[in-house]
Amino acid sequence: MKTVLGLLLGLRRHDLRAARTFIDTMFPGVSLPVRFVRFLVWALGQIFFTIPRALSSARFARPVSRTPIWLAAGNPLANHPWGNDPNTSLPTDADVVVIGAGFTGAGCAYHWAKAGQGRMLVLEMEDAASGASGRNEGLVVMGRYFAMVRDTVRPYLDKVRADLSCEDRNALAEQFAARYSQSAYKNADLVETTVRAEGYDCDYARNGWIQTRDESGQQALAESIQAGAIAGFDDWTSLSPAEVLEKGGMRVEHSAGFSRRAASFHPAKWVWSLLQTAIATPHVDLYSRTKVLNITDQGEDYTIETSRGTIRCRHIINATESYTAILHAQFRDKLNPVQTQAAFGRGGPHNMGKHIGLSGKRGFFGRHDTGVMIGSDATQLPYHLAGNNNPSRFISKFLIGEMHRYFGRSPIEITHEWSGTPGFTADEFPVVGLIDDKRQYLIGGMCGSGTAVSFNGARHVVQQILGIDGPDDYPAAYYAPTRILDPDNHPWPEIERP
Ligand SMILES: Cc1cc2nc3c(=O)[nH]c(=O)nc-3n(C[C@H](O)[C@H](O)[C@H](O)COP(=O)(O)OP(=O)(O)OC[C@H]3O[C@@H](n4cnc5c(N)ncnc54)[C@H](O)[C@@H]3O)c2cc1C
Repeated sequence: MKTVLGLLLGLRRHDLRAARTFIDTMFPGVSLPVRFVRFLVWALGQIFFTIPRALSSARFARPVSRTPIWLAAGNPLANHPWGNDPNTSLPTDADVVVIGAGFTGAGCAYHWAKAGQGRMLVLEMEDAASGASGRNEGLVVMGRYFAMVRDTVRPYLDKVRADLSCEDRNALAEQFAARYSQSAYKNADLVETTVRAEGYDCDYARNGWIQTRDESGQQALAESIQAGAIAGFDDWTSLSPAEVLEKGGMRVEHSAGFSRRAASFHPAKWVWSLLQTAIATPHVDLYSRTKVLNITDQGEDYTIETSRGTIRCRHIINATESYTAILHAQFRDKLNPVQTQAAFGRGGPHNMGKHIGLSGKRGFFGRHDTGVMIGSDATQLPYHLAGNNNPSRFISKFLIGEMHRYFGRSPIEITHEWSGTPGFTADEFPVVGLIDDKRQYLIGGMCGSGTAVSFNGARHVVQQILGIDGPDDYPAAYYAPTRILDPDNHPWPEIERP
């Protein structure tokens, strides 16, 4: 009873927000009242049985740190450049200003440095990798798989392309899925090539990603694998329960989805490595703890007002993901922060596979040297709460129960618990392109799969700015922000008939 009381008294505002997410997603295909009743039954079961049982072999350190485990050992670029050189002043001119130093901003810096021209400034309001890029699960994904993209884009097309026939909307959704998968596969290979070529020490390993499915998900799993294969995307496949146990240490009763070529890495080390390569050249500088407050279009260039002074520049790349709507009001309710959380604990199941992605029905898991990471949630927040680090203790406790379910019971002490906010668009399809028909770009809306888009997306935008010819991996008909800002005037792709 003490545990139950503790759980109930510990409920906070985000738990209620998250409860809505669970109600909306856990029992698809039934009416709201039925969903609510089923959720209530489920929640009471969690509160009175599952969680108290799980907590008998778990404890929470006092205090639990809010620092993501990836940042716990320190940040080599903390307070750069001010820490080493307090008298440095912010430059007043640049060719390009990048706002944000996560996967995306660091990717832009790297590609710009390799091109070896002009001057780029990367401005970061906190420290490099302090946003979602330093708070995630650490999987280098092959992207959302083909059928998943098709099925998230399709309902959006129903709303904004009601002029098309049902058949044409299906065809268009498949075209979106194909364009996305094509560029995501390329992105994943580009990450690997870069890690190897540069000799980055970021714990990179390419062992795949297991995503469990229960009995009710088996048919959809088979269909999604087949749809991907027919369209020429063969990464998404399945594993038998015995293979899931062997590769990931997870006990399941049914086949699981498997992304064969997903990898894992230390996400913050990836960001720092890219930036270190870039700032070693005369073409890129990083200014952390420098917040962009306002952007003004001056015709031939932009002025950027920051917390440390004003910069004039010709091009801007917004690498601000879930924070974008704070700077650009037109993205409010179009590119939303969605809170996801994680926790790290010492101990945990030793049979849990290492360097492999492991997802249960409602949580993810990962074994690291001294312990395990657990995580879940996808709750939309108001735009001004982007970057919210306020994890739900209830969800952490729930995840311990989920971990026991898949990996067996084992003692764990939770030492770190944090949350972050990926950015989500209405159709869960990213945005890579110009936001003003001039020279201001955005790379965002990567919907929790930033590793699938950010690096190749950054290369694409840098090439556009420099006028370098290359394959157009992000055609405006698919990726331009008008798709979500002004769908009536978006230059939609032609329907491709076989
Ligand atoms: C718990 C969790 C698990 C996840 N797991 C995965 C995973 O396994 N694989 C995967 O691919 N993705 C995962 N994601 C999503 C992934 O982390 C994001 O897609 C990715 O980090 C986005 O990178 P980014 O550089 O675009 O954005 P961010 O890393 O959020 O960077 C944006 C930066 O912009 C800065 N900024 C914002 N506004 C301003 C301003 N006005 N002035 C200056 N700077 C500003 C912010 O401080 C921030 O550092 C996960 C996310 C979370 C939270």
